[in-house]
Amino acid sequence: MNDPLSRSAVLAGAQCVRRLWLEAHATNPTGHPEARRVRRDQGRRVEALAQEKFPGGIAISWGPEAAAQTAAAMADPATQTVYKGVFDTGDIRVRVDIMRRRADGWELVDVRSGLKVKRGNLVDIGLQIAVLGALDIRVVDAHVAHLRRGAKAGAIHPDTHLRVVRVTDRVIPFVIPDTAPWRAVLSLEDEPAIEPGVQCGVPWRCPYLSHCGPSASSPHASPPAGAREAADRGEDWFGRDLLAVVPQGPVHSLDFEAFQPSLPEHPDIVPFDAVPFLWVIRTTGEPLSTSFLGVEPDPRRAFTESLLAALADDLPILVWSDYESKTLGRMAKLFPDLGPAIHDVRERIFDLHAPVRSGFWSAALGGMYSVKAVAGAFDRDFSYRDLAIRNGRDAALLALGIRRGLVSEDVRADLVAYCDRDVVAVQVIHEGLLKVLQAPAQGD
Ligand code: SF4
Repeated sequence: MNDPLSRSAVLAGAQCVRRLWLEAHATNPTGHPEARRVRRDQGRRVEALAQEKFPGGIAISWGPEAAAQTAAAMADPATQTVYKGVFDTGDIRVRVDIMRRRADGWELVDVRSGLKVKRGNLVDIGLQIAVLGALDIRVVDAHVAHLRRGAKAGAIHPDTHLRVVRVTDRVIPFVIPDTAPWRAVLSLEDEPAIEPGVQCGVPWRCPYLSHCGPSASSPHASPPAGAREAADRGEDWFGRDLLAVVPQGPVHSLDFEAFQPSLPEHPDIVPFDAVPFLWVIRTTGEPLSTSFLGVEPDPRRAFTESLLAALADDLPILVWSDYESKTLGRMAKLFPDLGPAIHDVRERIFDLHAPVRSGFWSAALGGMYSVKAVAGAFDRDFSYRDLAIRNGRDAALLALGIRRGLVSEDVRADLVAYCDRDVVAVQVIHEGLLKVLQAPAQGD
């Protein structure tokens, strides 16, 4: 007898069997294992808030008897509400956040850490209702409880921080699949050879996109008009406008990391406010980087002051996106006394991303203009593969995890190493552009 497939496995299989296989065999090949623990903790905090909104339920603990305990609780007419009930058809097993008894059946409440109902949520609820239907449990109403946009800073309460949206008429019906072909894929030793395509973004963006590589339908996979001749010759293309604006001479290269706590511990932080906690700077000609890392509930003031001190010269500051400048703009509003110094720093920031995106093309980009992809196009040995943390989302979760005591303090060094690699990527791109600028002179 096969183990039942979980709700997440069924949803992964419905998107793409390669994703199903990857989740079962490789976890997320680009993800940090401890980040998952923090993500689950984030979810549990929102679930606890939703349970306050619908109090008095029976909580089902995860374990081999969970499905039997759920069935027993629901068979008891005295039970009005069940939290985290487990429902098992023998082939598929789902866990439902909240079930509430009604005179004519059951109401399902799906709890989400986001700020709105997404199409994927409606597919997920459709699956849960299909499994419940297979067990003769009638769902007569469905809701999503999600975090409320614009909740104020301060004490967290279900009435101020949660929004409950009725979605009964919007649920996307889910047909329970024949899982035999999926089980055959799961038993493969090697990853199935499924090419990226439209399935990668439907009904949600697949987390394995960077692993599988770009889709041939990516808008940047083909060269733009001005780059076609160079592309035909197998060469990279550099537009004149790009080369004209590249800063020459010594520069700082800078990158920030921030976390966005959905339910902040600090009373002055609004839910989902981006809280910068880490910066790294590298300077032309200097072998070592400088950095600041603060994971206490509100590191914003120390972050900003230390950054201003580190940039107290007049060198241009290279970044990759407008994120750093926008973040500093928010810090200037938060700390008006630092406003003039922040203004001076923002005036020196040069965002390489926009001119590179319109003025550079290489087949090695694979249609992507992330800092990782562009640095990799300039230096084929450049990579994040040796790092414990390889994406900003994990970095943000792990910083939250340190301050909540969920992950080891050793992760601090991994966080700095990740941010530093982003800064090195900016340096690699800048140095690559400078070499192109110098190339004609060398040929004279
Ligand atoms: S990125 Fe696309 S091809 Fe790769 S696992 Fe996800 S859906 Fe499948």
